Amino acid sequence: MDLPEFYDEGALVAVLTTQPLDRTLDYRAPEGGCHLGAFVEVPLGPRKVLGVVWGPGEGGYDLGKVRPVNRVLDAAPMRAEMRAFLTRAAEYTLTPMPAMLRLATRAPGLGGAVSMRKVFRLGQGRPDRETEARGRVLAVLEEYGGLAFTLSELSGMAGVSTSVIKGLVKQGVVSEEDTPRDMPYPRLDPAMAGHALTGDQAAAAAALRAGAASGCYGATLLKGVTGSGKTEVYLEAVAECLAQGRQALVLLPEIALTAGFLTRVEARFGAKPSEWHSGVTMTERRRCWKMAGQGGAQLIVGARSALFLPFRDLGLIVVDEEHDTSYKQEDGALYNARDMAVLRASLCSAQVVLASATPSLESWANVEAGKYRRLDLTSRFGAAVLPEMRAIDMREEDLPGNRWISPTLQREVTARMAAGEQALLFLNRRGYAPVTICRACGHQIGCDHCDARMVEHRFQKRLVCHQCGETKPIPRACPSCGAEDRLAPVGPGVERMAEEVAALFPQARVAVLSSDLYASARALKEQIEAIAAGAADIIIGTQLVAKGHNFPLLTLVGVIDADLGLQGSDLRAAERTFQLMRQVSGRAGRAEKPGLALLQSFQPEHPVIRAILSGDEEGFWQAEAAERRAAGVPPYGRMAGIVLSGPDAQEAFDLGAALARQDAPLRRIGAQVFGPAPAPIARIRGRHRVRLLVKADKSAPLQAALKLWVAQVKLPANLRLQIDIDPQSF
Ligand code: ADP
Ligand code: ZN
Repeated sequence: MDLPEFYDEGALVAVLTTQPLDRTLDYRAPEGGCHLGAFVEVPLGPRKVLGVVWGPGEGGYDLGKVRPVNRVLDAAPMRAEMRAFLTRAAEYTLTPMPAMLRLATRAPGLGGAVSMRKVFRLGQGRPDRETEARGRVLAVLEEYGGLAFTLSELSGMAGVSTSVIKGLVKQGVVSEEDTPRDMPYPRLDPAMAGHALTGDQAAAAAALRAGAASGCYGATLLKGVTGSGKTEVYLEAVAECLAQGRQALVLLPEIALTAGFLTRVEARFGAKPSEWHSGVTMTERRRCWKMAGQGGAQLIVGARSALFLPFRDLGLIVVDEEHDTSYKQEDGALYNARDMAVLRASLCSAQVVLASATPSLESWANVEAGKYRRLDLTSRFGAAVLPEMRAIDMREEDLPGNRWISPTLQREVTARMAAGEQALLFLNRRGYAPVTICRACGHQIGCDHCDARMVEHRFQKRLVCHQCGETKPIPRACPSCGAEDRLAPVGPGVERMAEEVAALFPQARVAVLSSDLYASARALKEQIEAIAAGAADIIIGTQLVAKGHNFPLLTLVGVIDADLGLQGSDLRAAERTFQLMRQVSGRAGRAEKPGLALLQSFQPEHPVIRAILSGDEEGFWQAEAAERRAAGVPPYGRMAGIVLSGPDAQEAFDLGAALARQDAPLRRIGAQVFGPAPAPIARIRGRHRVRLLVKADKSAPLQAALKLWVAQVKLPANLRLQIDIDPQSF
């Protein structure tokens, strides 16, 4: 390991701050000096801002005016590997460095002194007066013996207000003490034995273990149908990585999935890993950030932003469900966590494992190009077989208006219920109805700020914009013509499906799984566990259910509208639909119960629907790849989307047109520019959006050309320009 450089007091240092400036600023090293990479607080005008010592100062101006660093924060200096990662990620995504640095400093209270927190244990004696509430507090503390709890934990567990606990502390019955906040996590034991693996699994696990033991970079696509044991297999790679004394990171696309994962890790390694995602408390996040840096967290499971934790020695990154679109960050810094995971792994000599039943075309192409190794798990574990898949031709079903469950599907659901099994009805639409229309004038209620229709959410009794989150009450009168009581919901959403199900199957216990219906990740997790345990006969779900939950009793999946994703002109639509339908269908049938997936479609002869039904994945990928290759689009060509947004549509459009005309820097690398045209969503939160698409050869230096190109125009203050490398839709 190379020792970090050190700057003596008074030396000129360049500091990268989280403020939106396009360069580092020079300061003088503070009393006691500072390390390269040190987290520091520096003065900027009248403010104090967070920064990182990025290198020696640049000088070249009046050195007498350079101010000293205020103080060095209490955090390990940022490692060279992390600085390289941020720099390379910024270059690739064309994100300004300060925005990149913000991703790496998302630790609440970063740099505060070692802070202490109060914890509570059982003290001595009995309370002066015994009350039921006091009794509950003491019962909790007795049950957990020597364990200490924070105030909120204890009040939560005992179901009492904090004043009850404070009262007991006053009498000494409960003791209160200070402990440091940031404790290492319980040790995971990689030597504990896992399950005995099947032949396929053992071969894949051995290959992954060898990679993890090598201490080198390597990328693997782990492809296997749902239930084939991918998780089982990559946990072997985690075991090897931990045995090497290095840290591991597992990225999951959905925080609702972490609960089940934590339990599995505990069963495999004897302790739970640490978590990093939006559902984790500030205190825990701070602890996780610090422990990642000190090595006190061996395994972290998290959302995409966990990639920016300051690991001391990261040896393995797993990206589970690697095809999932939620890995693309669509706000602020636009990055795809899958690609950034590969970049980070390559910079710290780590292994990266991309796991999926339906890999992205990108990963598939990387395997073909020899960049990733591919490991396959071909069969489901145990006696489980893949579900049978069939289409229901909706043109031949006798179905009244405003009904979406075909008689054929209804019969199958009835049969499952009679057998004590579960059925899942899948519809990728939150809310009650996607459109609210006036029967008198045909007006559709839209969002005031976005180019989007308001979606009726009947449980909330409101209309909701799925773009900006704006809600309003459902009006009685049409906002356009004023007619009263003529507004009607059109089309199905999951809430409306729940109504139809209640009418068709009055006896059934029904659960609706949609992200907006749960107040917290915990509530959702509890619902999922209850369903897995058999608490529902019929589950109605959005894409939330497509992501790897295990429902052992589930034997039937009915896709309400298999055609939904195939409308529109997006070149990725086929891939998305294929992945989603295969994922959802994979929910059916586990253990000894064979599954059936039924796809309701008005176009069962569509090539994508046919490919889904036949399960000919290789054939589907080949056909998709050929089409993308011919069109010169990702993964066989490079693309960037440039979105100009502002309060005035014409202004945004004019600037886009000016950019399109000045395309010399792009032409020099053989790239083409298309547009300007309205962005896929033409208005969000009152800002009009215009998009240009740039297409280039795979080998063209796209980022450099884009930089030169956009630098030619001066952005008016109210216009924003955002570059999206590898956009999700094109
Ligand atoms: P995937 O991640 O591919 O969906 P999982 O690893 O979750 O598959 O495996 C599916 C189920 O089968 C899980 O309940 C898992 O514990 C079980 N399983 C898989 N392989 C084995 C094995 N070799 N021994 C025991 N149980 C296994
Ligand atoms: Zn809106």
